Amino acid sequence: MTSSEMVAHKVSRHMATAYIALGSNLNQPDKQVVEALHALHAIPKTKVIKHSSLYRTAPIGYSLVQLQEIPEFINAVAEVSTSLVPLDLLEALFEIENKFGRERPYPNAPRLLDLDLLLYGKVVINTERLTLPHPRMFERGFVLLPLAEIAPNLQHSTDSSIVDLAKNYQNQGINKFLSHEYI
Ligand code: AMP
Repeated sequence: MTSSEMVAHKVSRHMATAYIALGSNLNQPDKQVVEALHALHAIPKTKVIKHSSLYRTAPIGYSLVQLQEIPEFINAVAEVSTSLVPLDLLEALFEIENKFGRERPYPNAPRLLDLDLLLYGKVVINTERLTLPHPRMFERGFVLLPLAEIAPNLQHSTDSSIVDLAKNYQNQGINKFLSHEYI
């Protein structure tokens, strides 16, 4: 086992703070995301401390032909406190995705629910199964805007603050949709 893999398996017997991105673009996606927040809160040894508003976001990363058929996404970010180790938390996210019936017929296919582990404390790992911080989180407005809403002063691995990174994505089809408390 490499040292990264050991970190992924071990790390926490105490509570750690982790951030999780949620996204859905099928079958009443706002409802899927709200139900997913409750499912995160129900993970053993884990509770949702806070979550962002829900955001409507235009699909990105699709061909022009695909774009005509891809519904818009609802995205949000949750902060959780957990005593699960990173790989067990990731496994719990996969279980929730499966419970929501996510299928992956092709890359970026419309999905009932996508859950990404963005950050787990200050852990940096790069294994086949888990990369932390999430490799694409700093270039995704639909992650950065909700994250900036709940954790503007978050310490992380890039030089810019989350708020400054998020500013690059304002006016790019990412708008607050609902800002109620769900948990
Ligand atoms: P996706 O289909 O986009 O949800 O990607 C899931 C795949 O990415 C799985 O094989 C995971 O093991 C892998 N993965 C690597 N790092 C992460 C992460 N930080 N959060 C979620 N999935 C990850």
